Amino acid sequence: MTTTLTGDALATTRPEPFWLDSPDRPQPRPRLEGDVHCDLAVVGGGYCGLWTALRAKERHPERDVVLVEADRIGGAASGRNGGFCEASLTHGEANGRARWPAEADRLEELGLANLDEIEATLRRYGIDCDFRRTGVLNVATRPHEVDELRAGADGDRTVFLDSAAVRAEVASPTYLAGLWSKDTCATVDPARLAWGLAAAAERLGVRIVEGTSAERIRRSGGRIAVHTAHGTVHARQVALGTNAYRPLLRRLRLATVPVYDYALMTEPLTDEQLASIGWTHRQGLADCGNQFHYYRLTADNRILWGGYDAVYHYGRQVRASYDQRQKTFDLLARQFLATFPQLAGIRFSHQWGGAIDTCTRFCAFFGTAYGGRVAYALGFTGLGVGATRFGADVMLDLLAGEDSERTRLAMVRQRPLPFPPEPVAWLGIQLTRWSLARANARAGRRNPWLRLLDRLGLGFDS
Ligand SMILES: Cc1cc2nc3c(=O)[nH]c(=O)nc-3n(C[C@H](O)[C@H](O)[C@H](O)COP(=O)(O)OP(=O)(O)OC[C@H]3O[C@@H](n4cnc5c(N)ncnc54)[C@H](O)[C@@H]3O)c2cc1C
Repeated sequence: MTTTLTGDALATTRPEPFWLDSPDRPQPRPRLEGDVHCDLAVVGGGYCGLWTALRAKERHPERDVVLVEADRIGGAASGRNGGFCEASLTHGEANGRARWPAEADRLEELGLANLDEIEATLRRYGIDCDFRRTGVLNVATRPHEVDELRAGADGDRTVFLDSAAVRAEVASPTYLAGLWSKDTCATVDPARLAWGLAAAAERLGVRIVEGTSAERIRRSGGRIAVHTAHGTVHARQVALGTNAYRPLLRRLRLATVPVYDYALMTEPLTDEQLASIGWTHRQGLADCGNQFHYYRLTADNRILWGGYDAVYHYGRQVRASYDQRQKTFDLLARQFLATFPQLAGIRFSHQWGGAIDTCTRFCAFFGTAYGGRVAYALGFTGLGVGATRFGADVMLDLLAGEDSERTRLAMVRQRPLPFPPEPVAWLGIQLTRWSLARANARAGRRNPWLRLLDRLGLGFDS
């Protein structure tokens, strides 16, 4: 059944992120050799670090900024994600409303403003990353999800679509209803966004080194020294955008866990194949449920299909070998063809995975160390394409000691509960995954473990 359904759809698939497999990928920049001095050192060349470097120069052009990337710019999550650039700063409105009801409306406004500013920045610097503000269409594929979607409609910018209407937008026999949020999401080519931000930052004078891992940070005289294998950055201040990787601050070691998310990319659809689906508004799509798929079209009419499985490896490890997981790719291919049976026979060109920095509140948290000279933002939990820009501004506010609207937010001041050490973390995460899969299969009914997590504010419900 399995083999018949997917045929040889995965027979010639390349084991690498589609977005990074491009002739336009910039050559690596040289590594750091020797000692340099600067006002601000940024560690991490994903969106979080890149936005921090760019915003630092925009806010204070005279500031001397050095960005240190262990591997390649955009080589980690920022160059391999689904490219859903969402307004939400809180991993969805429901999560924000449950945790910070008093400021939830303002967080939504700040998120929309952040997305507007991303759009304006791309225009300002001429960053061509196929940014399309087509919104996101959430689809119900199980009866109990229909009313949840209906309740989310506001009749204007967020529109409920019944079964016929949603299938008229995008033709899948599995759709029972849809909720199209028209301006809260854009799709981007994620790698081009990272490369474009790096180039823009350099044009403003930021110095970027690649292949340079920050091994430790220490106080050194009046400065903070960022030590690397071949040199040291002596900075007045440091911003850490290291995402799911081993944090440089000991206090953050239990704050996040790397959870692996996987995606497939099809070959470009023919005009007939695309016509068989419709999808003329090119929205980002996601189904409901705790284990959900996200999917979208690319500029050359491929479909990226990702999500569902979230895999945690014992010991909080981030390893290149985890980027490939055939079991998950087979499952994703089967689920894809069940959603779009009219595409039977299609092949997937690329398969890959990447680590998501999951924290117990499912959205970014912030803080400082070394007497306010070092700031960090992490824990974006799978929704960081847009929110990292906001995180960058929070870090810069914190480093400036500014009493801003951002730094007054409870969302910024509060920190999430840490995960327990191993083996409890691994056991707890496996039990949660198993329980979420059961809830998905049982009309969303949550078992006692999930209800306990919900009571503690630790329950994940997309
Ligand atoms: C498969 C997948 C799909 C996703 N889909 C979406 C999506 O559609 N929408 C969305 O909003 N989010 C999505 N995400 C999440 C999103 O990609 C991340 O939230 C975002 O990219 C985080 O950016 P970042 O800069 O914090 O992290 P990263 O991009 O991981 O960058 C961190 C960088 O820091 C570097 N680094 C770490 N430690 C050091 C050190 N000691 N010294 C020097 N450099 C260091 C790393 O090499 C890395 O390049 C997805 C993630 C994955 C993996």
